Amino acid sequence: MRAVAFDAIVKKVKDACMAANFELGEDVINAFQKAKEKEESPVGREILEQLLENAKIAQKDKIALCQDTGFAVCFVDLGEEVTVKGGNLVDAINEGVKRGYEEGYLRKSICHPFTRENTGTNTPAIVHIDLSPGDHLKITVAPKGGGSENMSRVTMLKPSDGIEGIKGFVIERIKEAGANPCPPLIIGVGIGGTFEKAALIAKKSLLRPLGSKNPDPALARLEDELLEKINDLGIGPQGLGGRTTALAVHVEMHPCHIASLPLAVNINCHSSRHKEIVL
Ligand code: SF4
Repeated sequence: MRAVAFDAIVKKVKDACMAANFELGEDVINAFQKAKEKEESPVGREILEQLLENAKIAQKDKIALCQDTGFAVCFVDLGEEVTVKGGNLVDAINEGVKRGYEEGYLRKSICHPFTRENTGTNTPAIVHIDLSPGDHLKITVAPKGGGSENMSRVTMLKPSDGIEGIKGFVIERIKEAGANPCPPLIIGVGIGGTFEKAALIAKKSLLRPLGSKNPDPALARLEDELLEKINDLGIGPQGLGGRTTALAVHVEMHPCHIASLPLAVNINCHSSRHKEIVL
């Protein structure tokens, strides 16, 4: 067994919370740049330019890319031969989130659903753990904004709705969401599994690098078709019109029950943040 120190996890998660909120990935920056070159709307081009400028300032001055610094969603890839020395993994992640949001002057956004009392620490984090053979420990911290999460949906289609039903639901969801999720968007689509599995694979697909395609050619074609149709809606950057409503659509699929066709649309805003750490 390989032992990983509790304190090492805390420190790495703390740093990742800050880095994710200060630095956009190169893939997102490149997608803004490419979209700006293609955008027909002058207002849309101006907004994309401002997003590029915003990303530069956030990285240089170490300030949050957006005032909404998100729910700390953490995806963990845990090797079966790893133990945590000095505590447990989820506590270490929560302690890292608490310290990262404090030290980075990041807004704490997590509250009691009824009283709305803020927990004051941006915890508890949402932690998803995948166990696999080996002695690795990889954690991806993905702060998720409230505006784009509010516009996301899970639905249980009828099997007879088929592929056309899936396309129709995704496009209608983006149309209804309009400017609310802060476009340009990255759209995660989870097809199949169960109610919760569809939501989970849709969210996880948001971690894929922009520009990547699903390895299944049929799903890759679906990603292209949905992206084109969504950009034809004309919502544009920040909902002020233009071609760039979405930067990417990522589709993931899982086998489902013969009676069901679960579908999830998890929308990410232009502040598409995630940092991976390896311990
Ligand atoms: S949805 Fe995204 S860009 Fe909009 S306020 Fe929330 S984090 Fe910021």
